[in-house]
Amino acid sequence: MSETSPLLSGLQARLDALGQQHLIRQRRLVETPHAPAMTVDGRAMLAFCSNDYLGLAADARVVEALRDGALRYGAGSGASHLISGHSAAHAALEDRLADFLSPHVPSVRALYFSTGYMANLAVLSALAGKDAEIFSEELNHASLIDGARLARATLRVYPHKDLAQLETLLRQSTAADRLVVTDSVFSMDGDIAPLHELLALCDRHGAWLVVDDAHGFGVLGESGRGVLEQLALSSQQLVYVGTLGKAAGVAGAFVAAHATVVEWLVQRARPYIYTTAAPPAVAHALLASLDIISGDEGRQRRARLQQLISRLRERLALKRWTLLPSETPIQPVVIGDNAQTMAAGAALLARGFWVGAIRPPTVPQGTSRLRITLSAAHTLAQVDALADALLGIEAAAMQSEGA
Ligand code: PMP
Repeated sequence: MSETSPLLSGLQARLDALGQQHLIRQRRLVETPHAPAMTVDGRAMLAFCSNDYLGLAADARVVEALRDGALRYGAGSGASHLISGHSAAHAALEDRLADFLSPHVPSVRALYFSTGYMANLAVLSALAGKDAEIFSEELNHASLIDGARLARATLRVYPHKDLAQLETLLRQSTAADRLVVTDSVFSMDGDIAPLHELLALCDRHGAWLVVDDAHGFGVLGESGRGVLEQLALSSQQLVYVGTLGKAAGVAGAFVAAHATVVEWLVQRARPYIYTTAAPPAVAHALLASLDIISGDEGRQRRARLQQLISRLRERLALKRWTLLPSETPIQPVVIGDNAQTMAAGAALLARGFWVGAIRPPTVPQGTSRLRITLSAAHTLAQVDALADALLGIEAAAMQSEGA
């Protein structure tokens, strides 16, 4: 047998080191459609870890639209958008999204992307050249961090929601182009950025405000238009990114911005230009999902979600661990230590509850947490059962620490 290459043993040593720090991640096998009740690794589980906030991922009408889209347009798009992959389904979705967001972005146009990750790379790399300065919120999602790396601009990171610090940085800036970039709903914390104040700062300092509303689109606002509706925001300087694989239940993302911004992205955003367009059927399915989101049923689902959020917060009276303040479906319980967080996650799994255990580098050192996410498809009884299980696990952990 040949000797193991030093390249492989070096990599294995690094994997072993991750293991010692309890940082190895595992993929679990989901065998059923996405819903609160799933079969996972062969076992029945109640899931509280998905971003399917409105319960649309397996909705029969959306699935039917996907099938219909495939029958009309085929399986694949065949090419990138600028070659021959831009189908009537993509165009219809973009028109629909632009219309939906029009109260918040003047002269709006929307651009559909295969993923939110790519949309964020596209916006940052296309709008921030090497003479630009990017002001990025400390807790931004990895895709915004990577977008800032891809852009050759100067990067300044400002502390979480620290408007005073951001203003100081903006005042000092001599860059030709400025972009303030933030998640709307922070994905690991669930709190919401002070967008009114951020927009006012951007107005004063001639900066774009890039808002990643991955966890707000479909969930926030009376008709599901997301954080822009919830906070009644409107500006030509807004560049809005919404994702469509979370509340919308399918896949992809979009940028909604002034038509001039979107035209610039079409011409210059490499993550838009140099990739095969998503299957048109996916865009077609999203039209069905948007019908639900923007109609009465969407409103009812959002109300239901709020009810479940309140219920969980009422019931989860933790003693040692901390339920972070959050009014969104992201309800994190900070435990701190990696191993203890993993143990709590495993104890929940053993009782049939699947909750994400989040460790560094996704969250800062010492703030490992259980990230509970709620969906309108959960029942009050399911939320109560999760709260009871978690309180029991916390009590057991406290007892064993005291012992
Ligand atoms: N932004 C945020 C805040 C996210 O949480 C995510 C996905 N976890 C993304 C962007 C990326 O979106 P997508 O999954 O569509 O690539």
